[in-house]
Amino acid sequence: MLSFDVEEYFQVEAAAEAGVGHEQWKSFPKRLAPCVDRILQLLADHRASATFFVLGWVARHERILIRQIAEAGHEIASHGMSHRMIIHLTPAEFRRELLDSRRLLEDISGQSVIGYRAPTFSITHQTAWALDVLAESGFLYDSSIFPIHHDRYGVPDAPTCVHRAVGPAGGTILEIPPLTMRMMRINWPVGGGGYLRLLPVRVIGRASRAAKHYRRSSMLYLHPWELDPDQPILPMHRVARWRHRLGLGRTEGKLRWLLMRFDFSDVRQCINALTSTAQQRHVYGQRIEAFDGSCPQGALPPTAEYSQQEPYGSLGP
Ligand SMILES: [Zn+2]
Repeated sequence: MLSFDVEEYFQVEAAAEAGVGHEQWKSFPKRLAPCVDRILQLLADHRASATFFVLGWVARHERILIRQIAEAGHEIASHGMSHRMIIHLTPAEFRRELLDSRRLLEDISGQSVIGYRAPTFSITHQTAWALDVLAESGFLYDSSIFPIHHDRYGVPDAPTCVHRAVGPAGGTILEIPPLTMRMMRINWPVGGGGYLRLLPVRVIGRASRAAKHYRRSSMLYLHPWELDPDQPILPMHRVARWRHRLGLGRTEGKLRWLLMRFDFSDVRQCINALTSTAQQRHVYGQRIEAFDGSCPQGALPPTAEYSQQEPYGSLGP
């Protein structure tokens, strides 16, 4: 599986931490469209499809671009509206972001939006209530739980395979974690972002093959701005800037290398590839009884329960 988080280079969390707020976004030059054009061309050249998790702000400002992605046959999914991490949202605010972004994206793309990825993979134990909100809002799958240790996100003990994630209130949703590699009894992130830019691409290839063998999730993720080494330098902390700009000039070549060697598809296609219409009906009926992405055919994906470590009150109105 292949995915792109569709946002501008100035909307990343490291920029927000350095004081680049929503009100300043309009003052930065937009650079998204040419990057997305190149990605669409690469995918077309290799007959691959991908899931595009689109930020609501971007959808509002780039309607034609989002329509082009959908018309090229790719899946449109939600990346929320504001790119605020879930820890900074109340359950009611999160629900509003989900519903607003879905309405906007469905209106633009003509597709039904069934998937979601949180900004900065910000569903953790602490924000596990978000799984309940996603399930009750009718989303079919989520791709926000990174089964690793990280300073900003991560649930290190989460399954690395596609699984049924259960929130503290019992809401269930199909969870599609990014690709990881297991070494020295630790899950290592290799599936995208700075890791993909840092590591030799052959390591990503090896991890992708191992994922198939060990039934780990094979989800890769990139951002269009990672194909843009000439983007303006943002006011960030030195380490954050290094992380943000690391290997930008090599991303496109790595993506091309992977596209030449692996077959990629979007999440919706994987669900549609279920072996029988009965299984598909179960999935679309929110019962999520089978998924062909990483489970033996016809078998149930494993289940993992997530609980928040801090009280979060009611789920809101
Ligand atoms: Zn993002």
